[in-house]
Amino acid sequence: MRQVYLDYSATTPVKKEVLDVMLPYFSEKYGNPSSLYTLGQESKDAITKARGQVASLINADPAEVFFTAGGTESDNWALFGAVDALKKKGNHIITTKIEHHAILHSCEFLEKHGCDVTYLDIDCEGRVNVEDLEAAITDKTILISVMFLNNEIGTVQPIKEIGEIAKKHGILFHTDGVQALGNIPIDLKSLNVDLLSMSSHKIYGPKGVGALYVKKGVKISNYIHGGAQEIKRRAGTENLPGIVGFGKAAELAKENFDSHVKHCSDLRNYFVDKVLNNIPNTYLNATMDGRHPGNANITFEFVEGEAMLLSLDMQGISVSTGSACSSASLVPSHVLTALGIPVEKIHGTLRFTFGDFTTKEDVDYTLEALTNIVNKLRQISPVSSEKGW
Ligand SMILES: *Cc1c(COP(=O)(O)O)cnc(C)c1O
Repeated sequence: MRQVYLDYSATTPVKKEVLDVMLPYFSEKYGNPSSLYTLGQESKDAITKARGQVASLINADPAEVFFTAGGTESDNWALFGAVDALKKKGNHIITTKIEHHAILHSCEFLEKHGCDVTYLDIDCEGRVNVEDLEAAITDKTILISVMFLNNEIGTVQPIKEIGEIAKKHGILFHTDGVQALGNIPIDLKSLNVDLLSMSSHKIYGPKGVGALYVKKGVKISNYIHGGAQEIKRRAGTENLPGIVGFGKAAELAKENFDSHVKHCSDLRNYFVDKVLNNIPNTYLNATMDGRHPGNANITFEFVEGEAMLLSLDMQGISVSTGSACSSASLVPSHVLTALGIPVEKIHGTLRFTFGDFTTKEDVDYTLEALTNIVNKLRQISPVSSEKGW
């Protein structure tokens, strides 16, 4: 059976070029980067190279990039590190209702420990209103954390404007850049971003490795305590093969940026067009304007997302309902809820995300399967028969 993977925002396969550069670091070049003999220094040099590769993708200085165990750790570090460093100044954080759980659940934890958190709404296009954001600022506000690009609906937030507001008020600005990395241009020399989270496995690198960009001069407390690794900012023996792989993945993402964006958006646009025209009662959620090139988030009325997902899976097609994190439960996606979509429609919503290995044949195969599945499910759906289907 054909296998079609349309869940690139959940994770991506490791590219062969990435795996190739990683392999020697498992069993030949295994030296501890903190060791002073040659084998250790070679490992240290490999990390230095990877730091440069990641920094180059976001137009930062290598000294501003600190490797972590992934996007989740980077998000946790940014929040906890900023709150601890600024506790004398205040205890108020501004974020949004559509953040990844790595931010939302960290904020909930911080609320239990004395922080006040404002969760901003988004408009019907999926964007935060910068005037609402500025109005939420108090003299106790120490941190703004607004994601660069949303993982479910693919919308890009007004990061430049938010950075200017943060700077004007002297507030730290963190952005979760995990989905933005490699998918839209990130130029940190032209944005007032203080902290930016990244993850390797969303850009064709290995899982379990990421980075936090900390702008020069920005002081946040450490989060992982121990040895002197990462210029004494993040302890623990480095995930050497992972970091080397992340570096290579970042280099490839920079090199192939234009063709990646074109490839994904061509297939995505073709798919969205066909679905909306060929399957009645379907809607694309959030704006197409400034969106993740490979994201399509579509509501199919009168059908259960779970039933569609399982039927597609039986035909070898992998997609997600709402978001990967809520896929095991029927709790409606917090992002789609914030977008104002009613619960019954959220339950009929699928996220398709296209990537470098998606082909036109994959998309055609999916379109055919999807059309049949939706028709079949609607015939047996009690909701659709009530509506006269
Ligand atoms: C995947 C993701 C994360 C978590 O990154 P991990 O490396 O899987 O821990 C955080 N934020 C966003 C927006 C993501 O898509």
